Amino acid sequence: MIKFSDLQKINEQYREDLKRVSAEVIDSGWYLLGERLAVFEKSLQKFTGSTHAIGVGNGFDALFLILKGYIELGILKHGDEVIVPANTYIATLLSVSNAGLHPVLVEPDISSYNLDISKIEEHITTKTKAVIVVHLYGRVCWSSDIEVLAKKHKLKIIEDSAQAIGASWNEKKTGALGDAAAFSFYPTKNLGALGDAGAITTYDANLAKMVRKLANYGSNVKYRHEYKGVNSRMDEIQAAFLQVKLNFLDTENKIRRELANFYLQNLKNPDIHLPRIEHPLSNESHVWHLFVIRVQSREILKEFLEKNGVQVLIHYPIPPHQQQAYAELNHHSFPITEKIHKEVLSLPLVPVHSFKEIEQVCGLINNFSA
Ligand SMILES: *Cc1c(COP(=O)(O)O)cnc(C)c1O
Repeated sequence: MIKFSDLQKINEQYREDLKRVSAEVIDSGWYLLGERLAVFEKSLQKFTGSTHAIGVGNGFDALFLILKGYIELGILKHGDEVIVPANTYIATLLSVSNAGLHPVLVEPDISSYNLDISKIEEHITTKTKAVIVVHLYGRVCWSSDIEVLAKKHKLKIIEDSAQAIGASWNEKKTGALGDAAAFSFYPTKNLGALGDAGAITTYDANLAKMVRKLANYGSNVKYRHEYKGVNSRMDEIQAAFLQVKLNFLDTENKIRRELANFYLQNLKNPDIHLPRIEHPLSNESHVWHLFVIRVQSREILKEFLEKNGVQVLIHYPIPPHQQQAYAELNHHSFPITEKIHKEVLSLPLVPVHSFKEIEQVCGLINNFSA
């Protein structure tokens, strides 16, 4: 069987180092807000090229704390609107709603699956204060137009980089493009912890200081609480694991590019829409968190692949505006988003897959007809 992903096999590559650092953490007797978190934060800050990095509990919290931080700094206020892509993973919207702000959905571009930057402006109102760009499936969502737009309308641009650590645009890495960025180290992400973890990067020293406090019960001096904060800390053991794995991230992302390139060269079925990107091997703007194709007869292809021992997944089957949690958006229509959700299928692609396995998947798909 060709698994969709294989966390056991991915982490086995680093088994000795992971065991060594976990023993070090156990023996240290210090499990939160210690040296290992500080070391990882420094490494992440250097890796992204941003100026501040703050480890937090998970990717959702990273997004939420950025928004909450801007509220406490007086830059956002209750009821303000935040533009988000309509086809994102629901965590992006939930972070906005939970911060007391309104998510405003904008359609993505059908060929990149990322927010259609040319459609942002028509959704800007007097309440619009921020845009969350999501680097969906590992592909950077950025352009000089968004920088111009941000200046013109005084918008904060927040990156949801949960799926795109290591990707870059014009030599600038995700996490260093917008005003602030959120990362997730959920185990399946390109840089995966062995549990939950997340991080924020930003150029803004005030925001960095604020989110650090907010993530620690609104406090930076024990028992003195300046803000109504939350508890969202990255464990020392996760920071130690991530430090080990960060050293191999570029290599793993390179393997992802090679596997994606193999798919792009070898998938020849005319019914399949491939992700379009120029020079996939050298194109740094995509780290292939997911390899997503589109096909009208998706359910039939999915069943066919599974019957032939290939695990595939759908990212995502139901768009946020059609979720019960967003009943207030259920009457809206987003045709491009709806089409994407009906047709996408994610093929196996993690750095421990072999070219032989990817070749098998290609062979099956090329022989498929609905
Ligand atoms: C994974 C993910 C998140 C949330 O990260 P968690 O660590 O699971 O909280 C947010 N946005 C996107 C696009 C994601 O893929």
